[in-house]
Formats: sequence, structure tokens, C-alpha cells
Amino acid sequence: MAGEPQADCLFCKIVAGNIPATVVRETETTFAFRDINPQAPTHVLVIPKVHYPDAASLAAAEPAVAADLLREAGQIAAEEKLDDHGYRVVFNTGAGAGQTVFHAHAHVLGGRGLQWPPG
Ligand code: C5P
Repeated sequence: MAGEPQADCLFCKIVAGNIPATVVRETETTFAFRDINPQAPTHVLVIPKVHYPDAASLAAAEPAVAADLLREAGQIAAEEKLDDHGYRVVFNTGAGAGQTVFHAHAHVLGGRGLQWPPG
């Protein structure tokens, strides 16, 4: 069924507690943890507990959870004090854009200057 945990999904395993992660925040619908390979001084991943392969498919199927994800990204930015210098919320979508884990996730990046356009 749509949104159900997938046995072969790394982030479903993190949500289930079967793979360790450094948890930042958890809500009824979302889970946030520090990226294992940080690309900025602050690099947090925010994921929905339900499984969808990318942010667009999550938003199409469960828009309220997609909104939760964005709200949590903002909350984390505030708690990590990223507001002063700005921060970036990134949804890599598709292998060509660098997506490697096909469970929707937002990267929250900050704590250093961020270039535009991104690479
Ligand atoms: O956008 P992309 O799919 O590449 O992002 C996946 C992210 O998941 C990577 O930044 C990677 O470092 C992170 N990751 C993690 N913990 C794992 C496996 C991957 O934080 N156990």
C-alpha cells in the first residue's frame, strides 16, 4: 500500500530504529537526524515516517505530511540558529540530481555561506 514501510529502504529502517541515527527531532509524522556525511556545519535530514520515493510523490499523496516536513525544516533551522546567515532546504530528486536514497527527505543545510547556483 502507498506509504507503507519498505523492507529494503534505509530511511524506513532508521525510522524503525533498526539503523542508528543521531536524532534531532521527531514528530508523529516526521523524523529528523544528522546527515552521516555532512556538507555544511549543520546538515540535518528531515524525512516523513511514511515511505514515498521523493518529495513530489509525498506531496501528491499526503500533502499534510509534506507540509509537516517543511514546518519541521523551519523549526530545525530556528533551533540550530541558522536564521542569522540563512540556510537552504534541498530536495534532490532523481539520480541525476544526486538523490541516492529513494525515501523522500529534505536536507537542511547551514552554518556557512552557500553558493548560488548550486553545483
Ligand atoms: O539526496 P540524497 O539521496 O543523496 O541524500 C541522502 C543522504 O543520506 C546523504 O546526504 C547521505 O550522507 C545520508 N545518509 C545518512 N545516513 C545513512 C545513509 C545516508 O545520513 N545511514
